[in-house]
Parts: sequence; C-alpha cells; structure tokens
Amino acid sequence: MPSIAANLAQIEQGLRKETRLVAVTKTKPTTLLMEAYEAGARVFGENKVQEMVSKHEELPKDIEWHMIGHLQTNKVKYMAPFVGLVHSVDSFRLLKEIDKEAKKNDRVIDCLLQIYIAREETKFGLSEDEALEIISSPDLAALGHVRIVGLMGMASNTDDQSIVRNEFRGLKATFESFKAHENQQVIMRELSMGMSGDYLIAQEEGGTLVRVGSAIFGSR
Ligand SMILES: *Cc1c(COP(=O)(O)O)cnc(C)c1O
Repeated sequence: MPSIAANLAQIEQGLRKETRLVAVTKTKPTTLLMEAYEAGARVFGENKVQEMVSKHEELPKDIEWHMIGHLQTNKVKYMAPFVGLVHSVDSFRLLKEIDKEAKKNDRVIDCLLQIYIAREETKFGLSEDEALEIISSPDLAALGHVRIVGLMGMASNTDDQSIVRNEFRGLKATFESFKAHENQQVIMRELSMGMSGDYLIAQEEGGTLVRVGSAIFGSR
C-alpha cells in the first residue's frame, strides 16, 4: 500500500496552486496525522468536535483545523478558541452561536454555508433560498464575530460523473450569484467541494477547497 506521503504527493500533483487540500483526518489516530504533517499537510478536517479538540491539543500548533461535519450548538464553545474554518453552517441559529463563542474568544470565525446539492435525502444543508436568506438577513450585521467566506457542498454518492459534475456546477453558479450580496461579512471566496472520489471534478468546476480522506489515509 502506498504511504501517506506518497498519497499526498500524488494528490497535490493533480491540484492547482489555487486549490487547497483539506486532509480529512476523522477517525484516524494521531500517529497517522503526524505522518501527513511530516509530509507537509497543514490543513486537517474533522467532523466531530471532541475528536478535533483532543487532536488539536496533542498535535503541533501550526495545523489549521477545519470543522466539516454537522455541528450541535452546544459543542461550538469547545472549538471556538482555535477552529480555522467551519464548512458546515446550516442554520442562522448555529451562526449566532458561533458568533457568541467567537466573541468570547475575541476572534472572528470564518464559516461556509453548507448547501444541499445531492440527490440523496440528507438531514443537513441549506437550500439556495435558505442560504440567500441568511446572507441577506438584516440580523447578520449584529454578528460581528463571524464571516461567511463561501459555500460547501457534497455531491451525490454515485459513479455517474455527469451527475456529480452537474451538482458541482450548480453550486458554483449559486456561489457566483451570491457575489452580488457581498459585504464586509459576506465574501464569496471559498468553494468547498470534492472528496476522494470526485475532487478533480470539483476542481475543474471551480472548487477552491477539496476535502480528501480515504485517498490519503486509506479507507480502513
Ligand atoms: C469524510 C468526509 C470527507 C472525506 O471523504 P473521503 O471520501 O474519505 O475523501 C469529505 N467531506 C466530509 C463532509 C466528510 O465527512
């Protein structure tokens, strides 16, 4: 089996310099995270707050930690001191909670709105209209400790690449249309889409952040 370093090198080779790789480290032991770190990876994505907090405590402090999983409001406080980007904001209520905890830590937390683009039934993610409602809400201005810096989406779990490509293309179109609503707090800069199976399609369709786990660490 190729090493983590070899996998990372191979993936990086396919990415343009504008596309940032988020190494998805969820469920992996810190020994493997350190292997990725030694190979140069500095942006790690986790989907559970507790796991991210304990890994953050244990590992070098120049790692940028991204939350990519569904978030419960009562967990936000644990990650607020250090989280680099939250990919998975799916309600105004959650954004308010992130703002509150960011304020306590005297920082501004960058967030992406998670948009529902897949065919599968999923509990998480906003429709385009719901996201638009959040970015154009007059109540957003009161949340001085969060910024919405882009969108995140997960394509359908299918081998049909044309479906995946279309979903990414749709998200990119939403991203572009939201630029009309930019202000100090809403900046359409990051488009988080693509995982191990579809990150190259995501890059072709305009993704700026790809979230890759199993292609780096294996799928055990
Ligand atoms: C696990 C996960 C990934 C990575 O998936 P792989 O197929 O292992 O690359 C990406 N995004 C989210 C939100 C995830 O939960």
